[in-house]
Amino acid sequence: MPVLPGATREEILQVVRTLGQPDYRAQQIAEWVYHKGARTYDQMTNLPLSLRRSLSDLLLLQRLDVVRAQRSADGTVKYLFALADGERVEAVFLPYDDRTAVCISTQVGCAAGCRFCATAQMGFSRNLTAGEMVDEVLSIQQLSGQRVSHVVYMGMGEPLWNLPDVVKSVLLLNREVGISQRHITVSTVGVVPGIYELAQHRLQITLAISLHAPNDDLRARIMPVGRKWKVQELIDAARYYTETTGRKVTFEYLLLRGVNDAPEHAHALAKLVKGLVCNVNLIPFNQVETPDGFTRPESSRVARFRKVLQEAGIAVTQRVEKGHDISAACGQLKLETARARA
Ligand code: SAH
Repeated sequence: MPVLPGATREEILQVVRTLGQPDYRAQQIAEWVYHKGARTYDQMTNLPLSLRRSLSDLLLLQRLDVVRAQRSADGTVKYLFALADGERVEAVFLPYDDRTAVCISTQVGCAAGCRFCATAQMGFSRNLTAGEMVDEVLSIQQLSGQRVSHVVYMGMGEPLWNLPDVVKSVLLLNREVGISQRHITVSTVGVVPGIYELAQHRLQITLAISLHAPNDDLRARIMPVGRKWKVQELIDAARYYTETTGRKVTFEYLLLRGVNDAPEHAHALAKLVKGLVCNVNLIPFNQVETPDGFTRPESSRVARFRKVLQEAGIAVTQRVEKGHDISAACGQLKLETARARA
């Protein structure tokens, strides 16, 4: 049975026709779910009562529940949501001066096992459906009372290991919720076949690739996926992506003190990405407890790293960090809540 949110306009239309209703009912239903935040059919007061009753047999309306919300002094709010089966995921509301962004999860847990990541410590449970991903945005829009302009797929999970539903959610956010594809960023740990597959969809979204190291040895040490896909294969996939979609890619580079933050690393990184239509986004490690005891580099070291890249002619940005006081790093809130319960 199709589920709302998650069903496309065509899927809603089919249900409406099955029930012998005029086509415009599909528009009304979509409006209630994707714009007015309806949580039950009974709230859809412009639909006849009999239709409201029969809809629930053919089109499941199922919304996320908020378990916890943590507000930061800077306006960031981190939400822990419960899914229908009791699983939990996080999503973050990020208000900036010029835009309002939401960071969403794509899976419950993650199988990538990155050594610096809090989500990795939970293991993998399951993929989120397209509807659950869209609901993260809808729910935050409702809870915050603000229109969301940008969506980043940078929460828990690996989007390219859940590719069909991620693509479906992008299209729903675009067509139904009205978010421009150019305001959507999908971040990947570097799943090479997934990058080629995503390119075929020719979406106008931004692809961000978590590179985090300029050579195979170092990358494999902090990211187990580095043993499967070589840095050069990743660069080739990124080039293919930019050539196929006409979009710039972003390389994310997480800075860990004494691990990958030396000027030599910056030089090697510059050489690697030179000539690609890209920019590099530097992310100083957001302190979480990890088995390796990683720490964050001093800001002077971050500045030095950045300068090397700039001098090599690479476009560099640095992540505007938010929510330091509310455990806004990926997976942190869920991990804390789970530990407190245990
Ligand atoms: N699986 C995808 C998307 C989720 S993670 C990916 O790997 O890209 C989003 C980004 O946050 C990634 O670049 C990831 O490496 C980074 N990240 C994870 N833990 C972090 C931490 N403790 N501090 C800073 N960034 C972190």
